[in-house]
This record gives sequence, structure tokens and C-alpha cells, in this order.
Amino acid sequence: MFDVITPLKEILAELPETVRLVAVSKYHPAEYIEAAYGAGQRIFGESIVQELVKKQELLPKDIEWHFIGHLQTNKVKYIAPFVSMIHAVDSLKLLKEINRQGEKCGRKIKCLLQLHIAREETKFGFSYTELEEMLVDGEWKNLPFVEICGIMCMASNTDDTEAIRKEFHGARLFFYKIKDEFFHDCPEFRECSYGMSHDYPIAIEEGSTLIRVGSKIFGPRIY
Ligand SMILES: *Cc1c(COP(=O)(O)O)cnc(C)c1O
Repeated sequence: MFDVITPLKEILAELPETVRLVAVSKYHPAEYIEAAYGAGQRIFGESIVQELVKKQELLPKDIEWHFIGHLQTNKVKYIAPFVSMIHAVDSLKLLKEINRQGEKCGRKIKCLLQLHIAREETKFGFSYTELEEMLVDGEWKNLPFVEICGIMCMASNTDDTEAIRKEFHGARLFFYKIKDEFFHDCPEFRECSYGMSHDYPIAIEEGSTLIRVGSKIFGPRIY
């Protein structure tokens, strides 16, 4: 088994108090999660619904499960009863379905709005303009079983650290702008989820509050 504890402790040792670590355990077996759990880690990120449901049944109930992948509306119902946060909300339709399932379970579900900031075409998420239009439209305000806690994004897949920094910086400024315009009386709107294994130190410098780190902790994924 990959040595999970050493990299986990290294990351945690350097983490400012304002930043929380989501240990991304997708494609890794339950034993890896148990090892990290034994070292005190409680927040885990998964991106496939069936895999998350299986792991949630098997593993300790005080784990906070964050769903970080693209979520199809027809699968919200499987994770709604227990999920701690849904990171990648990229449409009003999905937000409405989360609200519907939250109501069924009698719980308010924490969500982040996914921004598309990377150069790659394939990644999901709202453009800055689309997100602003959705917020202006206002329908999201009538979803009492959804708690919008902030934004989530991924930087371009590049070695150009200044380009990555610029993308995170832009996302942070946009976060402040919409906080001011739409969420100024919502103390829960405070999360910026960005930073992965290769770019989380930059993300922290650029104001991330939730880093999502997988391979650096658990090793390469076997698909
Ligand atoms: C897989 C994944 C991560 C973690 O990626 P690593 O490079 O392994 O740290 C972070 N965020 C999302 C959305 C992911 O799908």
C-alpha cells in the first residue's frame, strides 16, 4: 500500500488555519481512506456516485463526504441523505434537483457553484457571465434546502504557474464580487474550493479555503 500518512502529514503541517483539506480518495480502496482517517483526516472527496455510496456504507459515520465530480441530476437522490458538500454545481437545473432531494431528506445541502476558468474546453462549469446571469435571475433564492457556500474551480492543466495564479486570482476576485452583490448577508458564503496536487500551494496563496488533493496523498489512481 502507498504510504498515505507521510504526505498527508506534510500537507496538514503547512496548511493555514483558514484552509481545509479535502482528501480526494476516488478510485482508491477503503483501506487507504481508513489509513488517512486513522491519522485524523475527516473530509474525503469522491467523484463517482456508486463508489461514494459504497464507501459511505462501509466507513465511519463521522466522515464528511464531499462530492467533487460532475453530478447528473438523476443521481442526486443517492447521495442527498448523507453528503456534506456538493462542489461542482454547474446548472440551475441541478441546484433545483438538489433542493428537491434535500427537502425529501429534511436537510439543507451545502453546495458550491462551479466556475469554468481553465483553457480546456472539456471541463464543466459556469462562465463568469453565465453564473452572474443565473444569480441575477434570482430563482436560486427560492431553494430553501440548498445552502450556497461559495465557488469551486479548476485551473488550466499547465506547468505555467503564473497562468495558474492568474486564474485562481480571477476566481477569488469574482467570489468577492458576487459575495458583495448577492450573498452579503450570508455568512455561510465563504468557501473557495480550488487547488489540487500539482497547484495547491498556489491556490492557498490565492485565497483557497478548500484544497482537493488526491494523488499527492494516495498515489497514482488505477482506473
Ligand atoms: C480528481 C480530482 C481532484 C484531485 O486531483 P489530484 O491531481 O489527484 O490531486 C481534485 N478535484 C477534482 C474535481 C477531481 O476530480
